[in-house]
Amino acid sequence: MDLRYDAAELGLRQKVKDLLARLGTPELARELAQPRFRRRRGPLTRKLYEELAARGLNAISWPRELGGQDGSKAAQFIVEEELIRADIPVSRGGSGLPSIVAHGTDEQRAEFLAPAMQDDVSFALGFTEPGAGSDLAGVRCRARREGDAYVIDGEKVYTSAAHEATHIYLLVRTDPASTRQQGLSILLVPVDTPGITVYPLQTLQNDPPAPPGTIYGDPRTNRVSFDSVVVPVSARLGAEGDGWRIAQGGLNLDRIAPARYLMSVRPIETAVSEIAANPELGFLRDDAVVMDKLAELWIEAQVCRLFTLKSVRMADAGQPLTYEAAAEKVWAPEHGIHATESIAQILGPVAQLLNGSPLAPRDGVFAHNLMGAFQSSINHGSVQVMRDQVARRGLGMPRQ
Ligand SMILES: Cc1cc2nc3c(=O)[nH]c(=O)nc-3n(C[C@H](O)[C@H](O)[C@H](O)COP(=O)(O)OP(=O)(O)OC[C@H]3O[C@@H](n4cnc5c(N)ncnc54)[C@H](O)[C@@H]3O)c2cc1C
Repeated sequence: MDLRYDAAELGLRQKVKDLLARLGTPELARELAQPRFRRRRGPLTRKLYEELAARGLNAISWPRELGGQDGSKAAQFIVEEELIRADIPVSRGGSGLPSIVAHGTDEQRAEFLAPAMQDDVSFALGFTEPGAGSDLAGVRCRARREGDAYVIDGEKVYTSAAHEATHIYLLVRTDPASTRQQGLSILLVPVDTPGITVYPLQTLQNDPPAPPGTIYGDPRTNRVSFDSVVVPVSARLGAEGDGWRIAQGGLNLDRIAPARYLMSVRPIETAVSEIAANPELGFLRDDAVVMDKLAELWIEAQVCRLFTLKSVRMADAGQPLTYEAAAEKVWAPEHGIHATESIAQILGPVAQLLNGSPLAPRDGVFAHNLMGAFQSSINHGSVQVMRDQVARRGLGMPRQ
C-alpha cells in the first residue's frame, strides 16, 4: 500500500495552509478561547467555516447531494489535520455525523448535516454507562416503545460535551428481552428534552484549568440521567435493533480521524518547537542525548500517523477495518504517555508547573499534557481492550 500523498493531495494541503495563514489570526484564537463561543461559534469562526465551504473544503468525503464533494477520506483527513494543527475545531458532530450520512433518513440529514457544518448542531457521545464501558454490550439504559414515541430511562456516564452539545448520540436497549449486542438502537436526542439532567464530572484538568492547546484539556465530562424522556420514533437512527453495528462503525471512523492520533503526537511537536525557539533552552540543543531522544519520539510519532493513514487508505479502497484502527489506538496513546513523560524529564522541573504559575513555560501546557495523555489511553476504548482486538482479529488468537 502506497502511503505517500499524490500531487493533488499535496496541492490540497497547501490550499488549506494558505487559507489558514490568512484567516487563522490571533483574533480568531481569542474568539475560540471564549467559553461563550463553545456552544454557538463566534463570527470569525463562522466566516472561516463559510470560506472552507465556498472552496469545497468542508465535508469533502460526503456525497455531493449531502453538501460534500464526493471526495476521499484521505482528502478530508488532510483538511482536518491542518485545522487541528491550527487549533481550529473541525466540527463537533463527532460520531454522530458520519453515521447520519451513512444511515440517516432524508429528514435527519436535512435536519443535522448543514447546521453541523457551522457547529450549530453537535453530538455528545452517549454510550458508556456505570458498568458498561469496555463491556459496552452491557448497556442497560432502555427506550420503551409507546405508540410513535420512545420513553427513555437510565443513566450514562462520561458523556463528554453533553453540557455544550445540542444532541446526544445515544445507545439504548429498545428490546427489553434482549441481551448483549442484540436489541440495541441509536437515538438522536436533543439535550434540552424534559427529563434529561446533565451533572458535571470533573476531570483532573479542572483545577487550575488547562491552557488552550492542551491535549485533553477539558475540565469536565458528565453524568447524564434520563427520567421518562420522550422522543419521537423519528429520532431513531437506522433500524430498530441495529444500534450495535451502527455504533461500532462510528467508533472506527472516530479512531481513524486525525484528531485521534494528533492527541498523542502534538505534545511532542510542541516540545520540539519550544526547544527550537526558546533561547533559554539552547543548552538542550547542544545535548546529544536530548537530541537522540527527541528524534526517537518524533519517529514514533510518525508511526502513529502512518497507522492512521493506512486505515484511511483502506477505508477509501472499501476494505473493512478489522484490527488496524485498534492498533493505532494502542500505539498512539502509549506513545503520548511515554513522550509527555520524556518531555517532562528533558525540560526539567519547570515543565511540571501548572497554568497560573509565573514560571510555567507556555502557561503550563507541558504539565497539563502530561496529565491529559493518560486519558487518551482510556477513552474511545482502553488500550488493553484494543490489544485484545489486535490479538483476536489481527493475529487470529483465540478468545480467552
Ligand atoms: C476523559 C474521558 C472521556 C470520555 N468520554 C466519553 C464520551 O464522550 N462518551 C462515552 O460514551 N464514553 C466516554 N468515555 C468512557 C470510556 O470510553 C470508558 O471509560 C472506557 O471504555 C473504559 O470503560 P470503563 O470506564 O467502564 O472501565 P472498565 O471497562 O471498567 O475498565 C477498567 C480497566 O479494566 C480494563 N479492562 C476491562 N475489560 C478488559 C478486558 N476484556 N481485557 C483487558 N482489560 C480489560 C480496562 O482496560 C481498564 O484499564 C470517556 C472516558 C474518559 C476517561
